[in-house]
Amino acid sequence: MSTTDVIIIGGGLAGLTSAIHLTKAGLKVIVIEKSRYPSHKVCGEYISNEVLPYLQWLNIDPAPLQPASISRLLLSDHQGKTLTAQLPLGGFGISRYAFDHFLMERFLAQGGELINDAVTDVRMENDRMYVQTRERGVFVAPLAVGAYGKRASLDVKLSRGFVQQRSPWLAVKAHYKGDFPADTVSLHNFRGGYCGVSTVEGGIINICYLVHYDSFKKYQDIETHQQEVVYGNPFLKEVLTNSTLIFEKRLAISQISFARKEKVFDHILMAGDTAGLIHPLCGNGMAMAIHSGQIVSRNILDYFFTYKKDRRRLETTYIHDWEKAFSRRLRMGRVLSACFQHEQLAVSMMKGLTCFPRLLPKIIKMTHGKPLTCG
Ligand SMILES: Cc1cc2nc3c(=O)[nH]c(=O)nc-3n(C[C@H](O)[C@H](O)[C@H](O)COP(=O)(O)OP(=O)(O)OC[C@H]3O[C@@H](n4cnc5c(N)ncnc54)[C@H](O)[C@@H]3O)c2cc1C
Repeated sequence: MSTTDVIIIGGGLAGLTSAIHLTKAGLKVIVIEKSRYPSHKVCGEYISNEVLPYLQWLNIDPAPLQPASISRLLLSDHQGKTLTAQLPLGGFGISRYAFDHFLMERFLAQGGELINDAVTDVRMENDRMYVQTRERGVFVAPLAVGAYGKRASLDVKLSRGFVQQRSPWLAVKAHYKGDFPADTVSLHNFRGGYCGVSTVEGGIINICYLVHYDSFKKYQDIETHQQEVVYGNPFLKEVLTNSTLIFEKRLAISQISFARKEKVFDHILMAGDTAGLIHPLCGNGMAMAIHSGQIVSRNILDYFFTYKKDRRRLETTYIHDWEKAFSRRLRMGRVLSACFQHEQLAVSMMKGLTCFPRLLPKIIKMTHGKPLTCG
């Protein structure tokens, strides 16, 4: 058994940001991550600039990784009709392969401890959190943060409500070599889903799409579905046929749930996708994961240093702060996704936006946050 101040389950963006924040403030933190670094993740890899001031404050500005600088949004509907807009804040394109690894190294350099293992259970006993791992035994701390992503076997073990409902969404992602403007993040509708195309460091093109199972199930594999359905959007057909796959094979995940989730469950403080996932078409999930890492860290520091380890107060305040930061964005994401899924609505929406171009930056603002304050 080992003791520490905070155990963070999952070393993705939310987990590592929070781990770096808390170690910077002098707490002893253990991150338990089941996968090895570096590894690829299914993600559009466009991050809104709203997180930059906070990343700089944490001394984890990704500039040394030479991310793509992105300032323009391109949209296309099922028929390939396009629309462009300047992004109000802009963002950057960085692979999760490079970024998560970079954050993990900064965490270790700050004196943090990383355990490479899967968490299989968490329980509270005598006001302490007991975190069970598959191979390394039990870790104990006053607080545990759940930052283990969208859906994990741990959610099933903990019997969280959202795992009872099956989700029809699956996603496919791969990196390509080819020609795509480095300053552009683009979103393309096709029957049953939508696809993001943008570049990351080294001019690599990331193509990542979310698709409803009903659209996918008639086809035997990703390749056939891509040719029969995704190519239905002429823009996507052109990009995909003119680019060369770099990955050995495309990554795919299923059961992507956008259901409401508990922000605190069995006294575990949930952060990032573990607390709630915004529809990827908003391009704000990573910024939200980083922001939630900040919110949970601030609350944890208050618990240790301001309100004398009052767990009830910590949990109530954390839920309040999380809802205040993200509820509106998540609602807007659900509305936009519903419109985008409906072919006719999507076409009408594109027509409306073409007639009233000032609407698009307003919609983008509603799905994004303001630049984060430091600390
Ligand atoms: C198709 C798609 C496209 C997207 N595109 C974008 C985009 O372009 N821009 C954007 O901002 N957002 C995008 N997102 C959202 C974004 O990917 C997520 O919001 C973000 O990755 C959340 O980070 P996280 O730290 O919460 O979780 P993750 O990055 O998933 O990290 C969770 C970590 O926990 C680990 N873990 C899981 N279970 C256990 C366990 N039992 N024990 C130990 N470790 C465990 C995992 O290995 C993982 O490393 C997209 C999402 C999807 C599905």
